[in-house]
Amino acid sequence: MEHDFQIAVIGAGAAGLMSALWAARGGAKVVLLEGSEQTGRKILISGGGRCNLLPSVSEDDDFFTSGSRNVLKRLFRTWRLQQMQDFFTWEMDLPMEEEEGTGKLFPVVQKAKVVRDKMLAAAEEAGATVLCPYRVESVGKTDTGFVIKGIDQDDLLVDRVILATGGQSVPQTGSDGKGYLMAKSLGHRILPTYPALVPLTGPAEDLASLSGLSLKVRWRAVLNDKVVEERERELLFTHRGFSGPAVLDASHHVVRDKAEILVAWEGYTREEWIPYIKARARQSLTKAISAQLPKRLTEVLLERCGLRGEMRCGNLDRNKTDVLLTHLCDFPLPVKGNRGFQVAEVTGGGIPLDEVNPSTLESRKTPGLFLCGEILDVFGRIGGFNFQWAFTTGRLAGEAASRFED
Ligand SMILES: Cc1cc2nc3c(=O)[nH]c(=O)nc-3n(C[C@H](O)[C@H](O)[C@H](O)COP(=O)(O)OP(=O)(O)OC[C@H]3O[C@@H](n4cnc5c(N)ncnc54)[C@H](O)[C@@H]3O)c2cc1C
Repeated sequence: MEHDFQIAVIGAGAAGLMSALWAARGGAKVVLLEGSEQTGRKILISGGGRCNLLPSVSEDDDFFTSGSRNVLKRLFRTWRLQQMQDFFTWEMDLPMEEEEGTGKLFPVVQKAKVVRDKMLAAAEEAGATVLCPYRVESVGKTDTGFVIKGIDQDDLLVDRVILATGGQSVPQTGSDGKGYLMAKSLGHRILPTYPALVPLTGPAEDLASLSGLSLKVRWRAVLNDKVVEERERELLFTHRGFSGPAVLDASHHVVRDKAEILVAWEGYTREEWIPYIKARARQSLTKAISAQLPKRLTEVLLERCGLRGEMRCGNLDRNKTDVLLTHLCDFPLPVKGNRGFQVAEVTGGGIPLDEVNPSTLESRKTPGLFLCGEILDVFGRIGGFNFQWAFTTGRLAGEAASRFED
């Protein structure tokens, strides 16, 4: 029986839109199937509606996977960041500007909707047919290709399938984890999924009273007495616990591995605090410390140390100094849990990298099936890295699927 399309891309998020564009550019007859009412809903809500499209610089350790880092490097070599930036600037007519101090690139228009509209238009102009809404219920392998069953839609027969259904975070956008079940039915393992880039919740009332306060911290994730990651970014106190880029970036260490997060407020080290405090023997603790840290935080920390704010710095004995320095430089964030998939920016876990061919992203389990984007066991930290991953893998899967011959 004749097939309706050569390639069906399931899911029109960042990865699926990019995939459909490159598959159609490769000359294939492509259909892009989107289950929700609109395409690219996560693009629309990204970067607070401004879309942090890409990072200005990216390194291998900006990404997290439990799979092979060599495979990760190999995938990023298929489309270098600079080439991707040029693609958006010149081919998509989306010049970008760097946000000061964060390295994030935002489109100059500052509107996520423009990004989504341009990506959709580019895929359509390249020849892809977009069916939206078309919610896929199942994908089955046939002797000659695949049969796609839609909910209240006609079945489609296609030669190849690109699965770009995303993860399961913010499920109201349409990415509800259904893609994992489809991948599983086609022979894939699914590594346990967990919310990542997610705010953490804390039980401490005194810290919750700091809600709204944001400051730079140096954080360290410590697992089995070993520092597994260390970075400097902003932490935001919320009435439920902790958020901001520092906490979102650190969250997977807590959620997945139950690591402890130690914080140095404003990034100051013991080596900086010790001479500073010594030089202010006659000053009160509150005065000396709040000259460097927000006053509300200073008061909470001193209270936690059991120290009176009016005490002079010169009256601190060795033990008290040590307790104070621990609170200033190695403060363990009291974390109870996390805000879950409802608010997590991405999903950790998913389809293991060793189940795809790193040159094509074709499934090693089902020939003719390709996988890209967040459904794979990779995510990046805050800063445009997740779109970089979605675009890199979307393009590679689209191109490879259009060249595929069985
Ligand atoms: C609030 C928020 C802000 C973010 N901001 C940024 C940012 O500024 N920069 C950045 O780099 N990253 C950001 N991210 C992360 C980024 O949005 C995602 O990592 C990225 O969109 C993943 O792309 P994807 O195409 O793999 O998946 P998705 O964007 O999730 O797309 C998957 C698509 O598949 C569709 N789908 C799912 N199941 C089916 C089905 N059965 N049938 C048909 N269609 C289906 C979904 O409806 C969806 O449209 C943000 C995430 C959130 C939640």
